Amino acid sequence: MNDTITDRIGGSTPAPSGVPVSSGSPALDSAALDGSGRILLAAPRGYCAGVDRAVDVVEKALDLYGAPVYVRKEIVHNKYVVESLSKRGAVFVQEVDEVPEGARVVFSAHGVSPQVHERAEARGLASIDATCPLVTKVHREAVRFAKEDYDIILVGHQGHEEVEGTFGEAPAHIQVVGTPDEVDRVEVRDPSRVVWISQTTLSVDETRETVERLRRRFPELIDPPSDDICYATQNRQVAVKTIAPGVDVMIVVGSANSSNSVRLVEVALEAGAGSAYRVDMASELQESWFDGASVVGLTSGASVPEILVREVVQWLQARGFPTVEEVRTETETTTFALPRNLRSELAAHGLADGRPHAPRKAGPDHTS
Ligand code: SF4
Repeated sequence: MNDTITDRIGGSTPAPSGVPVSSGSPALDSAALDGSGRILLAAPRGYCAGVDRAVDVVEKALDLYGAPVYVRKEIVHNKYVVESLSKRGAVFVQEVDEVPEGARVVFSAHGVSPQVHERAEARGLASIDATCPLVTKVHREAVRFAKEDYDIILVGHQGHEEVEGTFGEAPAHIQVVGTPDEVDRVEVRDPSRVVWISQTTLSVDETRETVERLRRRFPELIDPPSDDICYATQNRQVAVKTIAPGVDVMIVVGSANSSNSVRLVEVALEAGAGSAYRVDMASELQESWFDGASVVGLTSGASVPEILVREVVQWLQARGFPTVEEVRTETETTTFALPRNLRSELAAHGLADGRPHAPRKAGPDHTS
């Protein structure tokens, strides 16, 4: 775990431009009634480099090849993004067996196991791999430790696509542990040859607890070469921890199957938020959540377009929370190149010059 993340406490900045201000409605029984309610907007929030790249992969594939472009699983775990891309011609499938033979398929940001690659090849599919490079890094660690015949403890959530993909790299060597309590059921061949790795989107604190439990059982436990919980997950959790003690209600924008979004709700509550709710979009907000509230915290998971946050801001501003204060704890500059085969094809068709991917400016919805 990266200890330095706990030191990144930032100041506050004015509300971002483009956030409209409107006066309150009579709907709430709170400080919001007199229009004195405040919104603390966590930063960083929203799209990470891996999600930005994955969405860009599907958009560029649609530009290049036209619809349909098949995508195995949700390209990123966000309902709005998936629906937006579906409207443009992306066809989301659960397995490569559903893709017509010889067609093109994009693998999602969460990564796939070698078995999925093999099945795609057997069907003659042309694949574009949008796996986040930080997930690929964990796959490589699993392969390397398995080659060295370690028992590998993969800390992560059973059934999550990322965990399935990593597990598939070395199923004979990997055991998945989801919570600290599950450590007790781990069995290894040689306690001196045990290593842990993790899903990229976990709670930093809960993972630390799980690893401490593992180390109590296996004192010679080996750490991964570097943090597996990615920079984006860590930064969003630090931002939420920073504002949580001062908020009555924390709103996390993100989908139910988004691991990092769900973790942000947990982190907010642990860090002292009065209450915390996850919503896909503003229409899911309930006025009763804000009864008696003066300060609302707001953040979004790594797969959430900024337009969804802006809509929540507008919803709150219309109900007596006119002031928006952004609290930034980190400035992110990470970007990832598009997959090599896609870059080459784009360059060959004169659609791009084949240079590494540059992040888009935050547009209205990140999907156009
Ligand atoms: S959350 Fe982290 S690992 Fe997942 S796509 Fe974003 S940068 Fe990559």
